[in-house]
Amino acid sequence: MGEWSGESQGECPAIKELKEALRLGVPILGSNKGKLGTIRNDGSRHTAGLAMDIMLDSRDPVEKTIADRIIDALVKTHGQMKWADLIYTDWDGKKPVYFHIPGMPPYGGKNGMLKKNPTKSTLGMKHQNHIHIDWWAYNPNKWPAHARTTGFKTALIAELQKEGVESTK
Ligand SMILES: [Zn+2]
Repeated sequence: MGEWSGESQGECPAIKELKEALRLGVPILGSNKGKLGTIRNDGSRHTAGLAMDIMLDSRDPVEKTIADRIIDALVKTHGQMKWADLIYTDWDGKKPVYFHIPGMPPYGGKNGMLKKNPTKSTLGMKHQNHIHIDWWAYNPNKWPAHARTTGFKTALIAELQKEGVESTK
C-alpha cells in the first residue's frame, strides 16, 4: 500500500529549489549528483515529488558531520522553507538513535516542533544512510500548499556556509 495514489509527479517547487541550494552550497552534493534522490516510482511521497533523500551515511564520521550541519541549517531556515518532516539517525556509541524533526502539522511529537523526536525503529533503520526531508501532508493525491514554497535558496546557502559545510572534505 502506497501513500500516493495519484500519477507520478515532477519535483514540487520546494524540492526543486532545495536541490539547487544543496548543490551550490554543499561541495560533496554538488560534485556527486547521485547523492540527491527525489522521484521514485514506489507509490510513496517520493512518487508525489514531495520528498528528497540526501545520501550522507550517519555511520561515516565525515558524512555525518556534513549531514548534521545541513540539518542545523534546514532547521534555522524553516520559517522560509516550510518543510514538513525530516528523518535521520544519531549514534550513542554503537547504538543507533532514530529521530525525526517535525516542521509542519500534522507532524509533531512530544519533544515539540523543530526538535529531535524519537521515531519508530522500523522507520528509522531505513534512514541510517540518508537524511529524508519532505513537504508531505498525508493527502494521497494532492500537493499541500506549502510544497510550492520558494525563495529560500539564498538564505539556506548563507546558513549552510555559516554552519561550515564546505570545511569538511
Ligand atoms: Zn525518503
